[in-house]
Amino acid sequence: MTVISESDRLPKIWLDNLEVLIADGVDEAAAVAYAKKQLDSYPPAIGGIEYIPLSDPEGADVLMLTNAACELRRHLGLGPVIISAAERVHLVGFADFVHHFGLADSLAHAGHVYLPERARYMSRRRWLAFLSHEIAHLSGHLSAEVVLRATEEGNCGATLKYRRSGMKHAGEGGDVGFIGLDEAVTEIAALQIRSLANRMSPSLGGMSLGGEDRITGYFGQVILVEQLAIQLADVGVAGWSDRVAVIRALLADYFSGSDVFLETLAEAAPAVHEFLHTLGDSEIDGEKAYALSRVLLI
Ligand SMILES: [Zn+2]
Repeated sequence: MTVISESDRLPKIWLDNLEVLIADGVDEAAAVAYAKKQLDSYPPAIGGIEYIPLSDPEGADVLMLTNAACELRRHLGLGPVIISAAERVHLVGFADFVHHFGLADSLAHAGHVYLPERARYMSRRRWLAFLSHEIAHLSGHLSAEVVLRATEEGNCGATLKYRRSGMKHAGEGGDVGFIGLDEAVTEIAALQIRSLANRMSPSLGGMSLGGEDRITGYFGQVILVEQLAIQLADVGVAGWSDRVAVIRALLADYFSGSDVFLETLAEAAPAVHEFLHTLGDSEIDGEKAYALSRVLLI
């Protein structure tokens, strides 16, 4: 199997990093041409769904929050992302949404955001909370591998597998770790995106960013991460002077694909690292995370 990992031979429009694995028997030049063609644009949204177009004000919200996400990335020394509302943010009717995505509130997958139509009838604050969360997912680091094999007909076939999405890491056997941590950091990023959007755009008026409105989902997971940040800074691990420094390191990992936080945690508190590895995004996981946040972790 040949490995091409330098991304400059391939476009980097929606993935931060792509490794191409070429099985024996596949011509390398043909494989690269194939991968280039496949990845030259965003993958299309899931087929077989009748999407509901966003209204102009909804499209403006996507643009405003995307600009804020770019600003947050800029604070972390990273380049901008481009999120086109028309191409990447989709409203889905009730039946189609349940059929394809179950009872999820909203989700981001393969460079696209899917929101149930009911989201547009929620309060403005809730709508922006949903949207900022999903835009945070899309702005985070995304890396994948594509394996190219010769098909029986002698053509080139490809399978794409995600390796890293935000804080989520795919393991060797295909199992995915740090799912709950990824959602917690997404919430923290979304909060900062809304806060920046509020400062950058007066049209966000009416959205409170204080008190109980701060976190809008994955409460247990977020509280555990916040508590961890406080305790890591208290002990002075990795020279982190305060909670903000730890959160900044986490956000840098989330957006750039680095692993400073998790590597530091693995050394400072291996049991907590292991807990986060298996922590999921369900409510039961949230309760477990909350219970752990009540004890001394470091
Ligand atoms: Zn999420």
